[in-house]
Amino acid sequence: MHTLTLHRLDLASDAAAADCLTRAEPREALLAATDLAATRGDGVFETVAIVDGVPQALEAHLDRFERSAAMLDLPAPRRELWRLAVTEAAAELRAHTDRAAVKFVMSRGDEAGEPVPTGWALGFAPDSRPGGVTPEVDVVLLDRGYRHDVAQTSPWLLQGAKTLSYAVNMAALREARRRGAQDVVFTSIDGYVLEGPNSTVIARIDGAYVTPPTDLGLLPGTTQADAFTALEGWGEPVATRRITVDELRGADALWLCSSTRGVAPVRSLDGVEVAVDAAVSSRLNAALDAREA
Ligand code: PLP
Repeated sequence: MHTLTLHRLDLASDAAAADCLTRAEPREALLAATDLAATRGDGVFETVAIVDGVPQALEAHLDRFERSAAMLDLPAPRRELWRLAVTEAAAELRAHTDRAAVKFVMSRGDEAGEPVPTGWALGFAPDSRPGGVTPEVDVVLLDRGYRHDVAQTSPWLLQGAKTLSYAVNMAALREARRRGAQDVVFTSIDGYVLEGPNSTVIARIDGAYVTPPTDLGLLPGTTQADAFTALEGWGEPVATRRITVDELRGADALWLCSSTRGVAPVRSLDGVEVAVDAAVSSRLNAALDAREA
């Protein structure tokens, strides 16, 4: 990751959005050691891809940010302020690179200070798509340890919120590397396909493009949603429904979708080769890159 821009947001003020945004140096220290982002991972975030200075699916990311904040009982984000932070960063990033990302974060604030959330937006050049190409991935299935209905039985586990507590997701990616793969698809203990540590799954099963429903405690993927819009526009059948592990193993093709990577074709699952549909993958990534906002 190469950091390029940084803005801090004043979330205590109700002044005009432009007056609540301050440009900082990209490597400047911005957090107190007592900020709950650092001490508890207590906060929410989003990462938006920026292509040629245009934030991709920004409104969908802002929707999800609001949803995550509500799930954590955080104050509702001032949407116009966060939108401005991303668009200002995106305009600056255009001078640096045609392919960037902005990560925007709201923590619960400083546990030694006023109960006011901390906010910032960091612009960076991601290394997830070298040369603009989305790499094919080897994937392992890992048990997440929850049942498919965890979001209903145990909402305090925050499954489906994009929180700052990603240590488990990072541990899963290290486990994948120990097994000779680069990525993971989590499964429920009762045999359903969930999501990746930072991606949404699309499987092509009997010719239809299928993704699991978010009521399994999954993050609603902005990339998957836009990929489905493109597929529907081409007349392809799409469906949102539960997928069993057996169905996944028998799929015609698989993809992992995320903002900075786009649609990454899976080339093996638990060491078993999966057919890569390079034509659909590159057509989908081109459609995603052409989004207006
Ligand atoms: N699921 C999880 C757990 C994620 O962390 C992410 C993104 O990082 C996604 C899915 C994909 O979401 P999006 O396509 O909006 O980036």
